[in-house]
Amino acid sequence: MGDFSSLIQDWYMENKRNLPWRNHQDPYLIWLSEIILQQTQVVQGLSYYEKFSQKYPTVKHLAKADQDEILNLWQGLGYYSRARNLHFAAKQIVTEFDGNFPTTYDNIIKLKGVGEYTAAAISSFAFGLPKAVVDGNVYRVLSRIYQIDTPINSTNGKKEFQALANELIDHQNPDIHNQAIMELGALVCKPNNPNCETCPVHQKCESFANKSFNSFPVKLKKVKVKNRFLNYIVVQNNGNTLLRKREGKGIWQGLYEFPMIESTESVDKVDYFKNLNQDKLILSHRTKHLLTHQKLEVSFWVYQDDYSLNITDFKKIKNDSIRNYPVPQVIARYIEESHFFKR
Ligand code: SF4
Repeated sequence: MGDFSSLIQDWYMENKRNLPWRNHQDPYLIWLSEIILQQTQVVQGLSYYEKFSQKYPTVKHLAKADQDEILNLWQGLGYYSRARNLHFAAKQIVTEFDGNFPTTYDNIIKLKGVGEYTAAAISSFAFGLPKAVVDGNVYRVLSRIYQIDTPINSTNGKKEFQALANELIDHQNPDIHNQAIMELGALVCKPNNPNCETCPVHQKCESFANKSFNSFPVKLKKVKVKNRFLNYIVVQNNGNTLLRKREGKGIWQGLYEFPMIESTESVDKVDYFKNLNQDKLILSHRTKHLLTHQKLEVSFWVYQDDYSLNITDFKKIKNDSIRNYPVPQVIARYIEESHFFKR
């Protein structure tokens, strides 16, 4: 075992957080936790992990579940493709691997939604395979220790950091090594104000010696954020409303929404239905919503009328059953605040 690995492992054994998915080697539960924790803070992910692992204790339970039910349980975590991929991959395990979680890195990475990081995490945590993980924490720790200025979101950067992580991994205890380096990034080598004085590897750290840790890691500039204007028509008639499932490849695929028209700018009138009576259309709420590369202005227009309920490509539902349908977070918030959908 290298000196670096032994230092971080000793530190980890003393300082690790007690997280539920660290107390076993069940590959299914480890996978579940890893997918939930992608783009999600541990504190927020914990309750979702509890809900999912209780409701679907095995991969077979998850494979058999209804997708709407899964998306409903996922509501609030965002990045819904993770939930859809989770469901797809559970079915893949049942059909392609006879219901047994795959045991090799090459098979694990075939699962939908599983990339190099997640495959390495499951391989090492559940099966003790010497596969090095490289996540945001690892990029930060390694770039600072060795003052590597290759952008971490470039193709070269990804290769360089993966190669270095592979060199450093402890082949005897790859699981503890991987957990240790990520935990060091999460608890000590934090993005702002790292606790260098208490860091177990500060004597080896070049950016500590040079006080240059704020310059690492280096990232390429982000892609431009796109502005979009979504107008939802909240049709109301005798305690009913209209919903439709979003299909296609865009955002919120598989979730439900009210009839929607997108405008190129913020508008004070919308024209969705043929013969829509503008006098009956009232702007009820307007809000901003941020996605990774999109800035949304979302407007909810209430329309009280019989006529619109005849629109055939929408589902007519009772207002009080709306919570049975998985919806994007911005719509869920509107539903909670609107008096039409009071519990
Ligand atoms: Fe990070 Fe500071 Fe430790 Fe270097 S010494 S790895 S900058 S916490």
